[in-house]
Amino acid sequence: MAVVEDLTGREAVIQRLRDVGLRVTGPRLEVLTVLAAGGHLDVEAITATARERLGTLTSQAVYEMLRHFQETGLVSKFDRPGLPAVFEISGPAHQHALCQSCGRVENVTATAPAPPRGSLPEWRVSDAEVVFKGLCPDCREEPSSR
Ligand SMILES: [Zn+2]
Ligand SMILES: [Zn+2]
Repeated sequence: MAVVEDLTGREAVIQRLRDVGLRVTGPRLEVLTVLAAGGHLDVEAITATARERLGTLTSQAVYEMLRHFQETGLVSKFDRPGLPAVFEISGPAHQHALCQSCGRVENVTATAPAPPRGSLPEWRVSDAEVVFKGLCPDCREEPSSR
């Protein structure tokens, strides 16, 4: 069987769950499938979409699942100040852009910056994050109140 590269389709999702040693359950499958469709979603959005197929699903249950998915590296979390965190399927390393008006999050293909020369001399830095902040195209186009 071919190596599963992209996380689209239920078979790929099932394989990913098995790869990290998580038992495949209906709710896990649905939640991960919602995330595999792409984007950065908060718990409420994930719960609402997965619930359409499952019938019943609490956001508390989704929280629990997301915690397991994060621990196993399947899913990554992005914190938004003042707004609920969003989750995405883990992929190649990337940075983020955050709309300061509506909270929309988009991926930015960029490598993490290195600390300025001479700073953090005693450190071994393993990762860095850049968040580009501003207004997304939708929010830019709102009529100005001036
Ligand atoms: Zn926006
Ligand atoms: Zn992302």
